[in-house]
Amino acid sequence: MNQVRVRFAPSPTGALHIGGVRTALYNYLFARKNNGQFLLRIEDTDQNRFVSGAEEYIRESLEWCGIKLDEGPATGGDYGPYRQSERKHLYKSYALELVEKGHAYYAFDTPEELTSERQQQKEKGNHTFKYDGTTRLVMRNSLSLSAEETKRLLASDTPYTIRLKVPQDQVVEVNDLIRGKVSFQTNELDDKVLFKADGMPTYHLANIVDDHLMKISHVIRGEEWLPSTAHHILLYNGLGWGHEIPQFAHLPLILKPNGKGKLSKRDGDKLGIPVFPLSWKGETPEDSFSGFREFGFDARAVINFLAFLGWNPGTEQEIFSLEELCEHFSIEKISKAGARFDFDKARWFNQQYIIATDDAILAEIIRPTVEAKGFNVSDEFLADFCGLMKERVVFFNDFVKNGYYFFEPVKTYDQKTIKKKWQPERRKAFDRLLGLLSQLTDFTHTAIKNQVVEFMEEENLKFGDVLPILRVAVSGTMKGPAIFEMMELLGKTEIMKRLNNAYKYFDDAILVS
Ligand code: GLU
Repeated sequence: MNQVRVRFAPSPTGALHIGGVRTALYNYLFARKNNGQFLLRIEDTDQNRFVSGAEEYIRESLEWCGIKLDEGPATGGDYGPYRQSERKHLYKSYALELVEKGHAYYAFDTPEELTSERQQQKEKGNHTFKYDGTTRLVMRNSLSLSAEETKRLLASDTPYTIRLKVPQDQVVEVNDLIRGKVSFQTNELDDKVLFKADGMPTYHLANIVDDHLMKISHVIRGEEWLPSTAHHILLYNGLGWGHEIPQFAHLPLILKPNGKGKLSKRDGDKLGIPVFPLSWKGETPEDSFSGFREFGFDARAVINFLAFLGWNPGTEQEIFSLEELCEHFSIEKISKAGARFDFDKARWFNQQYIIATDDAILAEIIRPTVEAKGFNVSDEFLADFCGLMKERVVFFNDFVKNGYYFFEPVKTYDQKTIKKKWQPERRKAFDRLLGLLSQLTDFTHTAIKNQVVEFMEEENLKFGDVLPILRVAVSGTMKGPAIFEMMELLGKTEIMKRLNNAYKYFDDAILVS
């Protein structure tokens, strides 16, 4: 195989959807696997759809995911510029070359004329007007007008576009690496605009010219681009590049969590789940949302999850680091069928990554959240806290949310447990336990446990009589981590205070109920 060069070519029209991140990831993995290059090209030729901040968002998202670029607008490289708006001067000559060779033509139809033609066709019962081999001769273009008239119009200020002249009665074949042979009947294809009246190329022309000039070997992109591929092949052939058409791989759709239809931004809003990598601040609140990062995802888990949305290694292994993915990835193992966006699976991946992360690193990650809440704790305390909590959280944000009571007094007590387990006549016994614990010189979880067990035996109480009480007294909830470890970390003074307060609270709670 020649040098592998692949590209991620998003249009900066808003926040980058998670499906776009997957496309970037697969391109990156394919490049790494084949010792190739991966580049970012910003396809910003549609000025009406340009959204400021979108390019930064794309770059930041890739960076957060650990997807590194070999070439790109900010990275540089030998094939730049990597923003199509900065390559504007390049495209027109290719459009003119196509006209010269008879593969394209000038079209002078105004937007109003096109609308009116569409309307007329509609009245004739023809709902989808297509500018193609059957209609082009009734339109105003260099094929229907005389050579003189065309010349005159071109010499005047009349705006024009350049359209691809799709040949009739041909079959265009694409050998897609995922889908196999896909054939297109040219009579089904429209005469796409290649060059616009505003002096900019359209996506189709710029994409082909750039893939060629940037020596792209494989085009790996979303399934929605498959129909355009027929036009692209006609363009390659028209420009005399037919012998070096890149290989195509069209990735399966990402489906809604229920498997029905394509995943959209609306699904994220409706289900309260992220479908974008990072948060985005749009013009309006409806256009603003948070992403996987703000949800408290570990980027490594997101990558692992995304890698499996449409690909799998064919083994039982599910946890893959980015390096391992680079090693195992192959286009042959990408499926044709749409991949369901299973958010529970994303949660599962995140849990696995959190559990496998060192306590001290977790502490560093959550420190900003802890400090933002005004809590001031040592690194050691925070690492021990993370160690205790990590099997019980799904997201980074859950640490402080679920374990707030490690940093401040308990706010609410689990009423059900109090009602079920607190017996006021045992108050004396629990007071005695408090006394016993206060005498421990060595307030370690083992010492605490031994003391509690001894106490239970003396009082003839069972674990079920004592532990839920201690647990709720210390943390307010039955869901916390190992009780004795939790007590050790909070320390004797704090535990004494909590038990005292809780007993009083429990007595009152039972009295009013
Ligand atoms: N600019 C196109 C997009 O926004 C690129 C499609 C392609 O990769 O060819 O997805």
